[in-house]
Parts: sequence; structure tokens; C-alpha cells
Amino acid sequence: MRRFEGIGVSRGIAIGKAFLYLPQKLPKISQSKDNIKIEQKKKTIDKALEKTRREISSIHKKLIADNKRKEADIFEAHLLFLDDPSIKEKINTLLQQGYSATYAVESAFEESAKEIEKIENEYLKERANDLRDVKERIIRNILNIPNPSLSLVESECIIVAKDLTPSDTANLDTKKVLGLVTERGSSTSHTAILAEALGIPAVVGIPRITESVNNNTMLIVDGENGIVVADPDKPTIKIFIEKKEKEEKEKVELEKIKFMKLKTKSGKEIEILANIGNPEDAETALKNGADGIGLYRTEFLFLGRESPPSEEEQFEAYKKVLEKFKDKPVIIRTLDIGGDKQIPYLNIEKELNPFLGVRAIRLCLKNTELFKTQLRAILRASIYGNPKIMYPMIAIKEEIEKANSILEEVKSELKSKGVPFKENIQVGIMVEIPSAALNAEELAKYVDFFSIGTNDLIQYTFAADRTNEKVSYLYNPLHPALLKLVKFTIEASHKYGKKTGMCGEMAGDLKAIPQLIKMGIDELSMTPTKIPYAKKFIKDNF
Ligand code: PEP
Ligand code: MG
Repeated sequence: MRRFEGIGVSRGIAIGKAFLYLPQKLPKISQSKDNIKIEQKKKTIDKALEKTRREISSIHKKLIADNKRKEADIFEAHLLFLDDPSIKEKINTLLQQGYSATYAVESAFEESAKEIEKIENEYLKERANDLRDVKERIIRNILNIPNPSLSLVESECIIVAKDLTPSDTANLDTKKVLGLVTERGSSTSHTAILAEALGIPAVVGIPRITESVNNNTMLIVDGENGIVVADPDKPTIKIFIEKKEKEEKEKVELEKIKFMKLKTKSGKEIEILANIGNPEDAETALKNGADGIGLYRTEFLFLGRESPPSEEEQFEAYKKVLEKFKDKPVIIRTLDIGGDKQIPYLNIEKELNPFLGVRAIRLCLKNTELFKTQLRAILRASIYGNPKIMYPMIAIKEEIEKANSILEEVKSELKSKGVPFKENIQVGIMVEIPSAALNAEELAKYVDFFSIGTNDLIQYTFAADRTNEKVSYLYNPLHPALLKLVKFTIEASHKYGKKTGMCGEMAGDLKAIPQLIKMGIDELSMTPTKIPYAKKFIKDNF
């Protein structure tokens, strides 16, 4: 039995077998011949083709089940490549010339991809990349190097990885993943946030855990205390099973109070809202008693896919959430892409310091078509509920002015076409850069509300990368330097009769809530599963 300590980022106990997620790079395929019999090589390739077919079909099926038709079409095309007669012929010719199975596949697919690329057509150019994608899958299967996809997890397991990107986690099969353990990451990394939103126990920041356990090693993950036990003995398993049962009992008690509206003894109403990343989370938020949505991270619709969602797709997603929440507020945050949320198809230039680069509103103000499409979708959906718009990563007032003028442009375009939308939609900003907090009195004049994003505000105040566990000791929301910025922001908004909420992880931290209430916070927005705990805590103590 071995015990590891990390950072507990999503509460709950998971007991199950490890699944090592270690996407390996493919070696370079050289132009080599071998003495293996041609029949043997054909068999190897056929086997790899069948395995590839099963993998692609299973991704295709999952996307159809998730209603992701457009992405599913891509994989449908991938399946067709597996039976392409001209590619098969090229492979056979190369095998007959004595080339290795991997080189035959590499060369045949590459030749076809190059032929397609010669044609001056953007759509066909993309197909060339699809061909290369399929080629890589086949070669991985010939070499027995697993394809990196968490959507292929076959049975219940605990994922153990060096790190998980937001795209990796977007593909998680939540029915099969019991827990997450990673070497890198901190409590505010997006992996942590997503794990919590999905209610999956998770521990991050355990150095070399991927070398310490094997596939199928029995694991216990204690997401509250940041503990992972490998090969536990029977008494330990018993202790954790009891703990799991106790947690489940506590949940029953929370059921009773989670739908309450909170008012402190001094008569101040405090709304407890939810942070969500997609329409499916909205259901979880409602079930957990959210008084509304305090942060809808719209960028998740843009992750883990090969092209941006259309205006129509975005409209449908926003409409779904708004309809679910009826007259309850839904704060839709415009795109926060960049930083650790990179999107290959947007061709964002590589930056040395992406967290300090063209991220969020900065990207939207540069790529106005992307921004306008999103604003149009939000405005069109606005008639289905009670939305508010929020801009992320505002540093200076000019950014609000620019974003608002684009918003006005979109409004007048819609008006001229007779498309209905809510005219008086509120517009607020995230306060997550120290300059915004320090200048909150000025910015308050330009907005309807503030929402403090402590995940980034801490990162930028203490110069501590939110994804780097080595500097996680600096991640202290109760540090006086941070509390000053929070207090300053709340007071500035109140001076102008406006509200300040908080949607960073600090908002759901029971150790921080007393301070926040004392400073006059109006709303707390958190991962849905934390809402019942926060409501009980505030009801019992204030
Ligand atoms: C924050 O920075 O606190 C925040 C809520 O935004 P995100 O975590 O999406 O950057
Ligand atoms: Mg942020």
C-alpha cells in the first residue's frame, strides 16, 4: 500500500482501477524495407484497420448521442477513408516492393493527402488533414501505441495522467470515469474546475504518479483531502467505503436546504449562483439549487472540435440554458480563449506568455467577426430568458467601450432586419486583472455589474501561473493583498449603486465566505455541486 499527497480539487471518494493516459508521440516513419512475408504484413495492416474502424465508429456514435452532428460527420468521412480503393492499391504496391507495413501506410496516405492538397480549395485542404489523422491512427495501431482519446475508455476507471488539457476533459466519458489524478495542475486549473462541475473526485499535483502506478493498479482517490492510495489493504478500503457512505448521507441533509433563498440576519440577500460550461451543466445547476447562473463559460463550446460552432449552434446552446432558468439571471461570459485554452483551428499565433497575451476580450476585439457572431447568438437567444452579458479579462475602460460599440453595431444590424432581442440587457465585466480592481471606481461608471474572477486575479496579483503546482503556495485567496483588491471592487460598485458578485473558486470556499460576506459581496457563483454546502454554511452562520 502506498499513499500520495496532492491537491484535492473536487470532493468525493473514488475507488477503482487506474487507467494511465499517456499519449505518446509517434516515432518518425522511415523509408525502410524488411524481410517480413507480404501476407504477414497484410494481416498486420488489416488488423490495425479493423481496430481503427472500431475506434472511429465509437467516437462517431458518441458524438451522435451527444447531438454533435457536425463533428460526427468528420468521423463518418474518416471511416470512408479506411475503404478507399486507391489508397489500398498504393499500400499493396508498396508491400510488394518490400517496404515495411508502417511505411506502406505512411506513404500511401501521404501521397493521397498531397494530391488533394494540390487542388486550390479550402474544404479539400481540410480533407488532407483528415487523411493524415486517419493515417496516424492506423500507424499507432500497427505499432500498438494507443491513440490519445479519453472518449475511448472502455470500463469504469480512475484516469491517471501527467496533465489533462481542457480538450481532453471535454471528451471525458463521465459514466466511466470514477476519478482523476494528475501530476500537474492546481486548484484553479481548468481540469480542476471541470472535474468539480462533473462531480468527479479529483486530486492534482502529485509528482511522478504516472510512473508510480500501472494500468489496473487499485486506487482510492480522496478528492476532499487530496489523498491517493495505491494498492490499498482491506482495512483501508473499509475506511474509505465508510467515508463514502457518510458523504452520501450528508448529501441527503443538504437536499432539504439547497433550494432556499438566503437572507442574512441583517437582512441582506445573497444569491448563490452556478458556474457552468455547457447547457448540460445547467441541469446540474438547477438540481443543486442555483439561484441563477453567475458564469457561463461559453468557450467550452469551442473546445475539442475541429471548427468553430456556427451562430445557430451557439444560439441553440444559449437558448437551452435561458429556457431552463426562465426568469432567473444567466450571466453569459463572452469567449475567454487563449491562456491554457488554446484552439488550433483559430490559428492563434504562438506566444511566449499566453496568459499575458491575446486572451479573452483581447482576442475578441481583434477577431471581431468571431465576437459579433457570438453577440448575435446571445442577443437572439435573449428573448428566451433573463441573460446578462459579461466581458472577461478587462484591463482598461477602453476595452469596455470598444466591446460595447461592437455590441451596439450588432444590435442595430438585428434591429434593421427585424430580429427580436432584449434591448435593455445588462452588461458587466469580470474583475480579474489587478488594474481593473484598482481602477474599479472608474470602471463602475461603464458597467451594470462586476464579477470578481479570483482564479485569474490571484494569478496576476501574485505572478503565479494558475496551472503550475510548484507555485500553488502563492495561491492564497485570504492573503491581505487579494482581500484589499476584493474590498476595493465591492465598495466601488456600491458607490455607484451596482452589484459585485464573485465567480472565481474563492466564491465557493467555505473558509473565504465569512470574509466576503463581511465585505458586502452580493452574489457568489460556484461549481454547482458546491452550492448546497455553501447555502447550508451561510444559513447556519449568518
Ligand atoms: C476566474 O478567473 O476567476 C474565472 C472565473 O474565470 P476562468 O476560471 O474561466 O478564467
Ligand atoms: Mg478568468
